[in-house]
Amino acid sequence: MQQFRIAVIPGDGVGKEVIPVGQRVLEAAVAQEAQLDWHLFPWGSDFYRQTGALMPPDGVEQLRRFDAIYFGAVGDPPHVPDHVTLWGLLLPIRKQLDLFVNVRPIRLFPGIRGPLRDKGPEDIDMIFVRENTEGEYAGVGGRVHVGTPHEVALETSVFSRFNVERVVRFAFELARSRRKHLTSITKSNAQRFGMVLWDEIVQEVARDYPDVTVTSLLVDAAAALMVRAPERFDVAVGSNLFADILTDLGAALMGSLGLAPSANLAAAPGVPSLFEPVHGSAPDIAGRGIANPIGTVWAGAMMLEHLGLTDAARRILRAIERLTNEGKVLTPDLGGTATTEQVGKRIIELL
Ligand code: ATP
Ligand code: MG
Repeated sequence: MQQFRIAVIPGDGVGKEVIPVGQRVLEAAVAQEAQLDWHLFPWGSDFYRQTGALMPPDGVEQLRRFDAIYFGAVGDPPHVPDHVTLWGLLLPIRKQLDLFVNVRPIRLFPGIRGPLRDKGPEDIDMIFVRENTEGEYAGVGGRVHVGTPHEVALETSVFSRFNVERVVRFAFELARSRRKHLTSITKSNAQRFGMVLWDEIVQEVARDYPDVTVTSLLVDAAAALMVRAPERFDVAVGSNLFADILTDLGAALMGSLGLAPSANLAAAPGVPSLFEPVHGSAPDIAGRGIANPIGTVWAGAMMLEHLGLTDAARRILRAIERLTNEGKVLTPDLGGTATTEQVGKRIIELL
C-alpha cells in the first residue's frame, strides 16, 4: 500500500473546525488504496501567544520532508494584526517552498442557488491561476517619517520575467487541458512597468500555444465580466493581489466563500505543495461548529489528485455534488441548518 506523509496545520479559527472533517473524508475516500500519515503542527496564533512567533524558526524546513501540506487558516484579528499572522506563517511557507502558483477552481455545484439567478452550473466553471510568490505581495517597501504628517509608505510590486513566465505557462497548459481559453488579467493602462511586462510575456508565451485563445482584460473589466457573463471564463491568470480579490468574487458566485478550495503548487519536484480553503479564519463564526467544510474537503481532494490518488479525488467531488444536489445537509452559509460535523458525515456516507 502507498504511504503519504502529510503535514497538517489547522491554524486558527474555523481552520481548526474544518481541517479534522477534511482529514476524515480523505481517510474514508482513500480507504484501502493508500495510507495517509498525518503529522499535526499546532502553529498559528495560539503558538504565537506562547512563543512570540507563529511557527518555529526552522518551521519551513520541517515541512520540506512531507509529501504535502494540508492547511486550515491563519488569523486572530482582535489579538494579532492580520499582516503579522499572514507574514508569520502562510506567506513565508509559500515563498520559501517556492509554491509558485495558487490554483483556485470556481464552479457552481448542482442544487446551489448562487447570487446570479440566470446562471447555472454550466455557466460558472472556471479555474484561476494566481501568481503566488511576488507581485503586490513581494513585501518590498517601507515607511519613513513614521507618525508625522509627512509620513510616506511605499509598497513596491515585483514582477520578474522568470516568475511571470512560469506562472503564465502553467496557465496555458491548464487551458490546453480544458476549454482552451485563457483570460489574462492586469491593469497595464495604469501600472506601466510590471503589468506591461506581464502583458508582453503573455503575448510571447501565447506563440507556443496556438490552440489556446487568449483574452487580455483589465482587472476592473474582468470583475464586471465575471458577474455579467461568467461563462466567458475558462482559465484565468492574474497577479497575487488581483487574483486574490477576484477569487473571493468567484467564491461568492459559487454561493459561499466556504466552498472554495486552493492548491499552492511547488515549482520544484520533491517539494511539498500546500492545499487550503480560500477562506480565512472567519472569526465571526469560529467556535460555533457551523463553518462550511466543503472548501477544505475539496482542497483535500486536490491534494489527493496531486499525490496521484485520482480515483479517490473524483469520488470526493462526486460526493460533494450529490450533497449539494440533495440540499438537505448544508451549513447556514448555504441556507441550511447543519453543522460542520454533519456535513462531513454526510459526505462520507455519500462516498
Ligand atoms: P482572515 O483574516 O483569516 O482572512 P477574514 O476576516 O478575511 O479572515 P474570512 O475567513 O475570509 O474572514 O471570511 C469572510 C466571511 O466569509 C466571513 O463572514 C465568514 O464568516 C465567511 N466564511 C468564511 N469561511 C467560511 C466557511 N468555511 N463557512 C461559512 N462561512 C465562511
Ligand atoms: Mg480573508
